[in-house]
Amino acid sequence: MNNHFSLLARILLFIAIATTTVCAQDAMFTLGSVTAKRGERVAGHLEIPAGVDEGTRLPFTIFHGAKPGPTLLLVAGVHGSEYAPIIALQRLLSQLNASKLSGTVILVHSANPPSFFKRTIYYSPVDGKNLNRSFPGKADGTLTERIAHTILTQLIPRADYVIDVHCGDGNEDLIPYLALYTHATTPERIAHVKDLALRFGIEHIKVISGRSADPNNSVYLTNAAQLAGKYVMAVECGGLARADEVSVTTITTGLQNVMRRLRMLPGQTTPIKNPVYVDRDETIRTPEAGIFYPLVARGQIVKKDALLGYVTNLHGQKVHEARAPFAGKVMFIVKTPPVSAGEPLVSIGSLQP
Ligand SMILES: [Zn+2]
Repeated sequence: MNNHFSLLARILLFIAIATTTVCAQDAMFTLGSVTAKRGERVAGHLEIPAGVDEGTRLPFTIFHGAKPGPTLLLVAGVHGSEYAPIIALQRLLSQLNASKLSGTVILVHSANPPSFFKRTIYYSPVDGKNLNRSFPGKADGTLTERIAHTILTQLIPRADYVIDVHCGDGNEDLIPYLALYTHATTPERIAHVKDLALRFGIEHIKVISGRSADPNNSVYLTNAAQLAGKYVMAVECGGLARADEVSVTTITTGLQNVMRRLRMLPGQTTPIKNPVYVDRDETIRTPEAGIFYPLVARGQIVKKDALLGYVTNLHGQKVHEARAPFAGKVMFIVKTPPVSAGEPLVSIGSLQP
């Protein structure tokens, strides 16, 4: 029995190594209905057919490198009015070259086309749901749930590394930061992602530990990828419905730095000199709809209980004051007047000493 088991184990190990080797050297990379050969760039769509509501399709580009290497999935536009990441991925189209790449890069240009084309913040115009609160999604759910399900079942499994690129939404002014996740993983894997984050070029790094470890309640795209065993990072850079040059360049440079560090691109990277770690953050929400008057700026250091802004009703009466729950830095703050009950006003990050 032992001998048989050991023989079986050896055969399984051989198959595992052989499969990995074959996968790593796959001449072809197929996604949806398109296939890229080594050294080739192809474009396609992932179709999400109509179900209980209308359908959509997710536009993507694959750069299938001339040489083998890891597969990196880059997602933009989970929130449709977050333009800096979407424009950054457009710019990567002319900056990447499959013939010089090792490994494979999948760019998802707009993970939420209905939100992009209807210019909505937070929520889909089709079903009113927030895609980045809808994972793992449902094959037979509403459109946002079907998009989440498609990302989870058709995109994330193809990748070794997943980077979900966000910014402040169309109403939010935000300081750039990266997020990495310390649950459902190992110290070695955390160290690897942290090393990549330090090479990105953004000094604030948020370390998130409290996410659900239940794949049936993963909620966020990054968490769904983390629980699927991928190396995961979130980027937040830009905001206020702008695609400003500094934010776009920070994102394109950072993503290519990650590729360099992973030896997918030639060239060296240097870690950022003075990283600032954010180990806790809290978003203050408004209990009532109205007009928000911000009193602090993004990046500002505030004391505990500092008045960060206030909400009035449309008759001009103050209905809510936003105060800092603890001393820290303003990570983002709403900078356009309308706010609805339950929505974010401002987020404070606590800096590691
Ligand atoms: Zn977002």
